[in-house]
Amino acid sequence: MRSNIDGHFLLIGLMAYPIRHSLSPQMQNTIYSKLDIPYVYLAFEVDQEKLADAIKGLRALGLRGSAVSMPNKQLVCNYLDKLTPAVEMSGACNTISNDNGVLTGYNTDGIGYMRMLKEAGVDVIGKKMTILGAGGAATAIVVQAALDGVNEIAIFNQKDDCYAKIETVAKKLNENTKCKVQVFDLANETQLRKAIADSAVLCNATGVGMKPLEGQSLITDPTLLRPELVVTDCIYSPRKTKLLEIAEKQGCKTLNGIGMMLWQGAAQIKIWTGEDAPIEYVKEKIGFND
Ligand code: NAD
Repeated sequence: MRSNIDGHFLLIGLMAYPIRHSLSPQMQNTIYSKLDIPYVYLAFEVDQEKLADAIKGLRALGLRGSAVSMPNKQLVCNYLDKLTPAVEMSGACNTISNDNGVLTGYNTDGIGYMRMLKEAGVDVIGKKMTILGAGGAATAIVVQAALDGVNEIAIFNQKDDCYAKIETVAKKLNENTKCKVQVFDLANETQLRKAIADSAVLCNATGVGMKPLEGQSLITDPTLLRPELVVTDCIYSPRKTKLLEIAEKQGCKTLNGIGMMLWQGAAQIKIWTGEDAPIEYVKEKIGFND
């Protein structure tokens, strides 16, 4: 517990509902303490009904910024002054920066994923990736990957509500970036095999592999995975999903969702404080070692 909080400290919020279970306050405050910087981070139970008032409060009280999570990531865009290209394209914001009263919306989930790859020595720029999923995590990753210079992205999803939404995002990316983005039905096994064979990276951005679908994998045929393929999973609990287990057996390099989570938090800290987060320290302190 920090005992030196004085009148100069700045507040950073987290607006979501439900949110009491979140590890973010612990992670963020651990970093602020380690860096000895005058910020505190608190979670606020804010649902869609309270969001407009919460943003007014943020402005009135001069919070330095706020993280935003479900169910507010889309709606919050309506209340901000500026949006980054990634937020414009994805329609989702998870980070607000308050710069002298001007609120800018960022999305650091995709930034975190791309940084995780880079830190692991995986170069996907100019190459192709295949992604399973079309929800919040997948959209953030696809958008950032396209903006960062990935050459081609194949998205596979079941034909649910997310499918039509990602088709709209793919259209925007095809019109506004050099990346070729295609959306396929997850049931199309021929296309899936072909896309993975051409890809440098495969990413699972669905909930398949974590509770209540723990022990399951959307890829069950190991011959889809060749040793040169890097296989990533956004899931971090469990640390090793069924997909990563299969990939490891095939000799693939594997990365779980811990890195994405840590690096997206580090990107938020950079935005709010200008500081580089001590990632190795956080991993050890909060038990995120993978
Ligand atoms: P979401 O609800 O927005 O999207 C879920 C996606 O999973 C959709 O594409 C849906 O079609 C697909 N899906 C669900 N059940 C399926 C099934 N049985 N078969 C095939 N597809 C199925 O969720 P989200 O926020 O995008 O999260 C997706 C995953 O990413 C979750 O496991 C979440 O924990 C993880 N995540 C990790 C991080 C991180 O920092 N590591 C950040 C965000 C999300």
